Amino acid sequence: MLQFDNQRKIYHSTILDNPHIISGFGTKKSGDGMDEKSLLHFFSSHSISYDHLMIPKQTHSTNVRIQLSSPAEHIAYVPNTDGLITKLPRHLLIVETADCVPIIFHDTKNNIAGISHQGWRGTLECMQTRMVEGLTGIGSDINSVHVAIGPSIGACCYNITHERYMQFQEKFPQYTEEIFEHKDNEIYLNLIKLNYLLLRDKGIQEKHIDYFPFCTKCNADMFYSYRREKQKGKGEMFNYVMIK
Ligand SMILES: [Zn+2]
Repeated sequence: MLQFDNQRKIYHSTILDNPHIISGFGTKKSGDGMDEKSLLHFFSSHSISYDHLMIPKQTHSTNVRIQLSSPAEHIAYVPNTDGLITKLPRHLLIVETADCVPIIFHDTKNNIAGISHQGWRGTLECMQTRMVEGLTGIGSDINSVHVAIGPSIGACCYNITHERYMQFQEKFPQYTEEIFEHKDNEIYLNLIKLNYLLLRDKGIQEKHIDYFPFCTKCNADMFYSYRREKQKGKGEMFNYVMIK
């Protein structure tokens, strides 16, 4: 279950709540991830200290950075990357979203953490699956990987073009019944559900996958939304995970 932390103004997943990591899905109320000052203020004001903060320059790619040694910088920007994985403690990993799907991963047995950003393009290109492969590639046991899918645009608001519909249908014919909704001659895509199904089918146990059907566009008080603002640059939520 995803629960709201009223002190930090973030959502956290009960599936990821354990003594080895800290993690959260930011909201409008926890700060704007596009503003570095706001981001740094959140962590300092809640006494979350770290040795390295890693911020990917997201490009809707399926590139995953597996960080096996510490970066030189205290605040490290990672070019052309949409997913981060590490075994290293005190490396705070971030992705930013405003409708796209943030996913946090933790292998509880081997203490390996990851975080990824996937919008329609990343979901279509199976970024969530690349993350699982990244984790298992450095020693994760699929049976101990726990996952939380964070606040994203809901099927209520995510209408797509016919061309996009065809792309998803061709790629995932087995999910047609589950991921599309039709109303008023429009087709709506359920990105959260598709990510859930892809993670499950990759071998993550259902009981280890957390999600909540938030809609970032419907909830203007709580979330930034590109679709609602109809432009970029109006703010983004930051989502984070760190091995203690
Ligand atoms: Zn909605």
